[in-house]
Amino acid sequence: MEKNKNIFIETYGCQMNVSDSEAIVGILTSAGYVEVVSPEDADLIIVNTCAVRDSAVSKVKAQICRFKPLRNRKKIRIALAGCLAEHERDSLLKELPIDYVIGPDRYGFLAELEGVGAVQVDADKEESGFYSGFTPVRKKGVNAWIQVMRGCDNFCSYCVVPYVRGRERSKPVKEIFREVEKTVNEGYKEITLLGQNVNSYTDGDLHFHDLLRKLDTIKGLERIMFMTSHPKDLSDSLINCFGELRTLCEYLHLPVQSGSDRILKAMNRGYTSEQYMRTIGKIRKRVPDIALSTDILCGFPGENDEDHSQTLKLVSEVGYDAAFMFIYSKRKGTRAAEMENQIERKVKVARLNDVIKMQMMITKAKNSDCIGNIEEVLVEGISPRDASKITARTRTFKNVILNGTVSDVGSIFKVKITGSTGWALEGEKIICGCCDGF
Ligand code: SAH
Ligand code: SF4
Repeated sequence: MEKNKNIFIETYGCQMNVSDSEAIVGILTSAGYVEVVSPEDADLIIVNTCAVRDSAVSKVKAQICRFKPLRNRKKIRIALAGCLAEHERDSLLKELPIDYVIGPDRYGFLAELEGVGAVQVDADKEESGFYSGFTPVRKKGVNAWIQVMRGCDNFCSYCVVPYVRGRERSKPVKEIFREVEKTVNEGYKEITLLGQNVNSYTDGDLHFHDLLRKLDTIKGLERIMFMTSHPKDLSDSLINCFGELRTLCEYLHLPVQSGSDRILKAMNRGYTSEQYMRTIGKIRKRVPDIALSTDILCGFPGENDEDHSQTLKLVSEVGYDAAFMFIYSKRKGTRAAEMENQIERKVKVARLNDVIKMQMMITKAKNSDCIGNIEEVLVEGISPRDASKITARTRTFKNVILNGTVSDVGSIFKVKITGSTGWALEGEKIICGCCDGF
């Protein structure tokens, strides 16, 4: 182990950040650094941040301050990475006890940062952000995150992502194919293809559905999931991959944000609620039992009670298996931040609670409907609540708890769903030599 080269990394925010942190550790490992599990043992602490909502920003800032005594005592260097590093780049070095500020497309320069003292990695050092020369250090498990595209050109009026992660760019199909083959050889059975808007993936004439078809041929790869798809450009060619490709799981995350056409327009989402419902209809026609999840944003500027009712109506009509629900948070530099009629926090929270209540009922009902089904599950690990149980996922991304041991991790079983705890399912392994469970 080289002296003064221990890193500790802490990650906030979305899967893209988790995947970026794996790339960061890969970059620094190849420069002689060693990852440690405690900040006390580190020489360099990296905090990979999120700027999508104000709550995430406040949390990160508070967490960084807890490293201050360590920095004073041991001369530990602290780097702030990720979306916040880009969004508030000019004020962070003054505001926080940190040494470096480094945005999401500049991690290739991390190993060059030396000495203690305020450094901001300049915008003119921009790279593609794919860090192809380095092997990410992935967390152990059954699922590997694979970035296929970065950035976003959609400019939804509430969202900071296009400003902090830049324009859309895609990784070549050949490179992704090689990376997936490698992860499968390392033992991963499932991959999740990541991009802010995977439907916009292109490599010359090839589109996202072509990429899926190519990856489907990889031996040993059992499951593909992907996120996130934008409803306005979910193509028929992509929809047709569901139910046809062996590896493509019957699960789709399709964020709607609101059920009101007026609000969708103000959000610059590029679809109406009717168009969204038509897309859902096409997907369900193709795979009736597909599981669907979404993102809902409550309290966008100008949203009134009628708009809110339309969101509740859409949530109920679609009947999502799961939803990520947020209150609108004003982000500096976005168009929505300048809009009049910002909604009072009290009202936003009340609307969020309405949506959560409705979604909880739907999720519970959907999970109860699964009782008696035979499902294929991939075992992810030991249950954190009961060491005699294992946690596994169906192809519809539902969590199943069943009896098992550590030796089951990574296996694929047929299980019978015997119960539902509301959020998770309970199951039993089907042991049948003659028909593989069917
Ligand atoms: N590209 C993805 C989403 C990326 S951000 C998509 O288009 O769906 C993830 C989610 O965060 C968004 O879907 C949205 O629901 C939420 N979000 C984005 N900006 C937000 C803001 N200003 N306030 C609250 N939630 C926000
Ligand atoms: Fe943000 Fe919209 Fe891009 Fe998603 S599609 S990252 S919500 S701007």
